[in-house]
Amino acid sequence: MTVINNNYNWAFALTPRSVTTHLILHHAAASKATADGIHAYHLSKGWAGIAYHYFVTKKGEIYRGRPENTRGGHTTNWNYCSIGICFEGNFDQEEMPKAQMVAGRELVSDIVSRYPSIAIGSHSDYEATACPGKYFPFDEISGRAGIEPEKNAEKDEKPSDWASESCAWAVEKGLLHGDENKNFHWHNPVTREELAVILKRASALGSF
Ligand SMILES: [Zn+2]
Repeated sequence: MTVINNNYNWAFALTPRSVTTHLILHHAAASKATADGIHAYHLSKGWAGIAYHYFVTKKGEIYRGRPENTRGGHTTNWNYCSIGICFEGNFDQEEMPKAQMVAGRELVSDIVSRYPSIAIGSHSDYEATACPGKYFPFDEISGRAGIEPEKNAEKDEKPSDWASESCAWAVEKGLLHGDENKNFHWHNPVTREELAVILKRASALGSF
C-alpha cells in the first residue's frame, strides 16, 4: 500500500492523540475533491488544516492527511479516540468506483492490523449527518459486515465489576447524566470541570 505524503502547512500545532478505539468513514460530499483542496477549505474555516487522517481518491490513491497519531477534526465528540478517513465523491448521489473501494479496503485492513479491536463506523453512526451517503459501500470497505460499531461501543460502556454498584448508585442519584445517547463512557478520565459539576450535584442532594 502506498500512502502519498503531502507537505501541509498546518496553521497551528496538531494535538497528539493517545486513544484509538474507533475508525470513522466519511465522504467529501463533492463529486470531485483533492486532499490539498480539503486542506485549503479546512484552513479557511480557521482549523489547523485537513481534519481527516487519510483521503482516498476515486482513482484509488491514498493521501495522508493529519499524522495518524494526532487528533483529527472530523466527528464531534469522537476526535479524541478516532482515526478519520475521507473518500472523494458524494455517495448520496453516485456509486463508488472499484479502484477507490479496493484502496479503501486496503487502507482499513492496514489500520485494523495495527488496532485489532478498533470499531469501524460511518460518520452517521456518531452524529446526525448523511455522511458518507446512502450508496457508500460500508460492508465492502469495513470488511466488518455484521459487527456494528454501536455494539462495540456498548461493550466499552460497561463499568468494571468492582465499580458497577457504585456506578449504578451514581446514576440513580443523578450525579452522572451520561451523554445525549445515555452513554456514560465509564473508562474515560474525568476533567476538573466535570468533577466540579458532580460535586455541585452531590451537595444539592444534601444527605445521600
Ligand atoms: Zn463525515
